[in-house]
Amino acid sequence: MSAFNVVVVPEAEICPRCGSEITREVQFKYGDRRAYRYAIGDALRWGGNDLGVPARLVRVQGYPEVCPVCGFDPGTVYDVVIRDNVIASVALGTSTLCAAEDFVVVER
Ligand SMILES: [Zn+2]
Repeated sequence: MSAFNVVVVPEAEICPRCGSEITREVQFKYGDRRAYRYAIGDALRWGGNDLGVPARLVRVQGYPEVCPVCGFDPGTVYDVVIRDNVIASVALGTSTLCAAEDFVVVER
């Protein structure tokens, strides 16, 4: 059983190594961890291999999967924002605020 889920970044990205336009998938650890594949606007599932509990506002650390064309690992983190248990956004991380943790509950 996988211990993480995946969210798909809505905008295509350009791989910095091979220049391909790619769909980036970002792994995160929160909710029922069963390798679910989510998009922005999806509600998280619970009731299995849960990590954390539902909350009003949560920031989750996201780890990008490698480029599907050339395998390049960008070595960056993504911020996944979950509001009222719905994935609100996923974007390149602007800080390493929660780098040591899988997620931070901003508002219960
Ligand atoms: Zn690439």
